[in-house]
Amino acid sequence: MLPKYPDRVSIAHLPTPVEKMNRLTQHLGGPELYIKRDDQTGLATGGNKTRKLEFLVADALAKGCDHLVTTGAPQSNHCRQTAAAAARFGLGCSLVLRGNPPDIITGNILLDRLLGAHIYWAGERPCPEVVTEVMDELRAMGHKPYAIPLGGSNVMGATGYVLAMQELMNQLQTQNLNIDFIVFASSSGGTQAGIVLGAEIYGFRGRVLGISVDHPAEDLQTQVAALVTATATHLGLGGISLADKVEVNDDYIGEGYAKVGETEREAIQLTAQMEGILLDPVYTGRAMGGLIDLIRWGAFTRGQKVLFWHTGGTAALPAFVDKLLP
Ligand SMILES: *Cc1c(COP(=O)(O)O)cnc(C)c1O
Repeated sequence: MLPKYPDRVSIAHLPTPVEKMNRLTQHLGGPELYIKRDDQTGLATGGNKTRKLEFLVADALAKGCDHLVTTGAPQSNHCRQTAAAAARFGLGCSLVLRGNPPDIITGNILLDRLLGAHIYWAGERPCPEVVTEVMDELRAMGHKPYAIPLGGSNVMGATGYVLAMQELMNQLQTQNLNIDFIVFASSSGGTQAGIVLGAEIYGFRGRVLGISVDHPAEDLQTQVAALVTATATHLGLGGISLADKVEVNDDYIGEGYAKVGETEREAIQLTAQMEGILLDPVYTGRAMGGLIDLIRWGAFTRGQKVLFWHTGGTAALPAFVDKLLP
């Protein structure tokens, strides 16, 4: 059975390039490393949320909504891309950010502001509670708000990555490339759910490995597997369970979310200086750090081909200057 895709708006610059990382491969002594450049999706410095927002914004417009509301960490890339997508379609945007405002406005928060988003700081309160309040306020003012969950990780968001997998499979075929492993940062799970489902639908033969940024492997695995099944149902494929294809490694969480350590620092500097490619401190720096560690432990053979899926986030770099150049 073929998937039936819902409407999407066109925001992302697609297809994003697949490139070979020759110098990093040589430096690490194999496996052959490739990179899929979803840091280049084109939406206000890009990232993986752009593909999700193509479906989420289409749904919001179809429902006649005039305002996007979402939530995340202070340096949320998802919130910044949501603010940009809202601007592109003339929608209002309200962001509920975790905790209290920092002393210095920089990185994604600066971009949120420039993109015209309203920012609400949740302080000590749980973000979902504040989101509900903001939604009610907007309705009381006569707006029709559309709530997007954390990371855009619902069936609509994940659908963006099912299609990303179709895009990748076309590129691999054209380049006559057989990838053994796809490795990337996983957090709210929508990216991994989409990739796992897309891998099944479009016949990817290798393995898909999510490096957990913040959640214990078992929790994230359960969450992603459930989202795979729900997304399959959403696309009219029904009854699919791919729990055994959802692989999560939680060895690199370190001190927790957005706590930058030597793993991230080394990965960011090595990738920058070997390839001229910027990673981010919270997600891709951690995932690449994990991949480099796995390579050093001998998890891959020299001849295997590993594709690192760059999910973006470089807009957050200036907010971590003291951790990156200690
Ligand atoms: C959100 C994000 C991720 C994680 O994607 P999920 O779909 O939430 O698992 C990875 N990298 C970057 C840069 C992100 O902003």
